Amino acid sequence: MANKKTAIFLGAGASAAEGAPIQTNLFRDYFNLLRRRGGHYAHEHERELATFFQLMFDIDVDHDNLDMAMFPTFEEALGVLDLADFKNESFKDFTNINFAANSGRIKFLRVYLVFLMTDIINESLKNSKGTHVELIRKLESRGLIDDTIFITTNYDILCDNALLDLFPGKKVDYGVDFVNYKEGSFVRPDLDSIKFYKLHGSLNWLYCPTCNNLRITPYEKGVYNLMVDPAQSFCKICKTVYSPIIVPPTFYKDLSKVFLNQVWNRAEIELLEADHLIFLAILFLMLTYT
Ligand SMILES: [Zn+2]
Repeated sequence: MANKKTAIFLGAGASAAEGAPIQTNLFRDYFNLLRRRGGHYAHEHERELATFFQLMFDIDVDHDNLDMAMFPTFEEALGVLDLADFKNESFKDFTNINFAANSGRIKFLRVYLVFLMTDIINESLKNSKGTHVELIRKLESRGLIDDTIFITTNYDILCDNALLDLFPGKKVDYGVDFVNYKEGSFVRPDLDSIKFYKLHGSLNWLYCPTCNNLRITPYEKGVYNLMVDPAQSFCKICKTVYSPIIVPPTFYKDLSKVFLNQVWNRAEIELLEADHLIFLAILFLMLTYT
């Protein structure tokens, strides 16, 4: 008789248990981080984000008490931009593409919000607690790993790294093809691979809109490198600067959607075969704090 299959869903609480900010505190934590770094803007996107919060949400991130400020959620902030972009509408001072020299701020800000989220996740998980490693070790020690499917809406690469570290001989099947397979820099999965579906994208995925392909940056947050030095983060084939594939659960229009559709389809097929579905959110927090 075939073994029972278990799907484990890693929600926001799984990353929060390792130190990641919870969604409601994301902006507050980020602008506090910028203040701790000296209160100056090292990158253009940081200055532009400060202007965005001032003009759109009336929050002066340089001077206001950040603990008292009424920040929107990440989805709300991104949602207003996505909706305007989808309808080809503009806000005052924040336009879609037009003939003015500084137009297209809506499109830039959308990526800048992804950079913001990348930065705060990267910072807060520098000393992660190893909860994912612990979970995967336990599954392996009980002989369950081959019958487990991992599904997540988190963008961080905690689970990715834990799988690569603990099973160097195994392949990871993300449910989508990477250009790395042809180069040999990431091994194409087979039937024995560990299945891991990231429904909202990942910080280690980079999308080339010219070649229409996806690159994985194992162990590296490729999106972080894109944020720090976009000029050096380009497609090896056509030299186009990469785009992140980070899609929050909001109303969106995204050219990279086709790849996420593949991931969603694969996840759905696997879920139909699963005997158990375990949501790891609050459980992870309990494991950490008790
Ligand atoms: Zn390309």
